[in-house]
Amino acid sequence: MTDFKYVINGSVDKFATDPPGVGHVSQINTEIAGWVLLIHALTKILAVGKRIIHNLKNIIQMKVLNGLLMLVAMIGVFACNQPTVKEKTTIEKKPEWVIVIHGGAGNINPERIGPDKEKDYIDKLKEALEAGGRILDNGGSSIDAVEAAINILEDCPLFNAGKGAVFSAGGVNELDASIMDGLTLNAGAVAGVTRIKNPVSAARKVMEASPHVILVREGAEEFAKGQGLEMVDPEYFYTEERWNSLQRIKERERQQKEDDSKKSGTVGAVALDRQGNLAAATSTGGMTNKKWGRVGDSPIIGAGTYADNNTCAVSATGHGEYFIRNVVAYDISARMKYSGESVDQAAGDIINNKLKSINADGGVIALDKNGNIAMPFNTTGMFRGYLVAGQKPVIAIFAKEN
Ligand code: ASP
Repeated sequence: MTDFKYVINGSVDKFATDPPGVGHVSQINTEIAGWVLLIHALTKILAVGKRIIHNLKNIIQMKVLNGLLMLVAMIGVFACNQPTVKEKTTIEKKPEWVIVIHGGAGNINPERIGPDKEKDYIDKLKEALEAGGRILDNGGSSIDAVEAAINILEDCPLFNAGKGAVFSAGGVNELDASIMDGLTLNAGAVAGVTRIKNPVSAARKVMEASPHVILVREGAEEFAKGQGLEMVDPEYFYTEERWNSLQRIKERERQQKEDDSKKSGTVGAVALDRQGNLAAATSTGGMTNKKWGRVGDSPIIGAGTYADNNTCAVSATGHGEYFIRNVVAYDISARMKYSGESVDQAAGDIINNKLKSINADGGVIALDKNGNIAMPFNTTGMFRGYLVAGQKPVIAIFAKEN
């Protein structure tokens, strides 16, 4: 509009006073010339006006079209967002495979561990992730991957499982483990075993080669031996560190002080394979100074371990009695199934609100059917890590690294 105004005023003023190229002419000639100029000017004004109206029409048409397109896009975005409102952790694209592991939650801080040991933990967690990851990358099953990852941690004295298991009050290492297949909902577990080198492999045999879910103590050992698993003398599980820790706890018990038997180091793994199958497994020595054949949550399906292809795979670590009473692993899956919560919401709320409010220490690793990962814990640390197809392993220990 500004240009339009400028063109009219400028032309009229200019031609009326000093028409270009006319010079000294007669009155008539001047009048004719004036009329010619006027007609010329009017023709120009008309042409400009026509062009402006044409442009305006185009602009209005474009605006209406853009408006319509915007409206359609907004309706599309709104409609697409509706079913995923609760999926806070929804990922862009489902990864081909994922493995997540933990090495126990507890009162873990950098000063207590020291830099050398911290490195040892990180290296071992990485080794376990890569062993599981290799299986998944080659198209292997999530069950094979979680078993392989846990076997590596069971063979390492750093963790409270297998070789590094804590001692019971009787000075024995009594091991618990479980495994679950999210495709079939089959599960297996062993509890209180003292001679099976890799209890998680025994749990798998219970799942695949027996009609039962849980076998305990000598019966479980007899079964495992019959299945060809490696048996060891109970002495194999002796480590000085765990022995000393039992002595310290006994001394505190004698002085009637609160003990620190909530020792961290249980191990667990959850995985999603290329076929979309989830699996979970957990292995532990339980709690230092445990008595009377105590069994924790780790070999209890639904408490310490759970997997369902329709929801998620979970492995827990922490004060087992609370995890059993609150059926933690299954509760995460059930919340997702019946309330539509994301894995992050369900696992986070249970660990950080429900369990924390009753002073139940611990954490979980949870992985949903789309590859979303949750690793909440309410202690100062949890050894944890994950590996996603095509990416580098991610490992963390302390709370601040979240
Ligand atoms: N949950 C295990 C138990 O209570 C211990 C742990 O995870 O640290 O036996």
